[in-house]
Amino acid sequence: MTYRGRFAPSPTGQLHFGSLVAAVGSWIRARSQNGAWIVRMEDLDPPREVPGAAADILETLAAFGMESDEPVLYQSTRTAAYATAFARLREAGHVFPCWCSRVDLEPFGGIHRDACIATADPARAPAWRLRVADATIRFHDLGFGPQVQDLRESVGNFVIRRVDGWYAYQLAVVVDDADQGITEVVRGADLLDSTPRQMHLQNLLGLPTPDFVHLPLALDASGRKLSKQDHARPVDRSKPLPALRAALQFLGQCVPDANDVAGLLSKAVSDFDLAALRAVSSAAKCKIDPDPA
Ligand code: GLU
Repeated sequence: MTYRGRFAPSPTGQLHFGSLVAAVGSWIRARSQNGAWIVRMEDLDPPREVPGAAADILETLAAFGMESDEPVLYQSTRTAAYATAFARLREAGHVFPCWCSRVDLEPFGGIHRDACIATADPARAPAWRLRVADATIRFHDLGFGPQVQDLRESVGNFVIRRVDGWYAYQLAVVVDDADQGITEVVRGADLLDSTPRQMHLQNLLGLPTPDFVHLPLALDASGRKLSKQDHARPVDRSKPLPALRAALQFLGQCVPDANDVAGLLSKAVSDFDLAALRAVSSAAKCKIDPDPA
């Protein structure tokens, strides 16, 4: 099977070091497998988006020598595909409307495990949740090793269509990864604990599950994930080499001796070392339980 990987930024701000690490990790891995690398713009959350951020991210990626092999897919154009998947889940009885608020769920640690606490209110749009049965999901992450999550206990019935009518990330990502024929997902470890939800949706929708490689997360000085919303400092696209070298080093890769972007990247591809990536991942804290089995 031909390898197909992707990088899926949300246009909530400029590319910072943390997202550069995910871009470089996914790009190098795809190239080292002679595969395709596709950019998907996850513009599915207008309240969090920053005008101009999508174009800015694509320009920055280009300055760092990474361009999508196929036209960039914008999730904002994909509502019909998400609606079809949602309708299938609904027809099969896997989803239910829910009027519970955050406050309602507070006594349960924010987790919706059983029936709704709030009563139905036809005057207000509900969120739609996927019903999660007792399901222990196991997977082998190529970076972080064997993982296990008890979906009902740790996540509960989760939202796949929001009160404001937008489809949730968890549903959209599963539909797009399948439609784009993605064979391996390489992304930050902040999404390690979303993976079981996505695998569960793949099972229910009869979609293939790709392989997963989660990458260690770049943290700020206080130990928090760098994020665009927190205005983490954007990478400087006029000087790509220092940030590229730092990203490779962060991923445990040896930093090639090259003085131009194309040369550095192509050497990084031929030297790509998954075991070295695993070593930095195993030293990093992991968000869900490593599987003891
Ligand atoms: N859009 C997500 C982010 O920017 C990434 C989603 C994914 O790779 O599955 O963090």
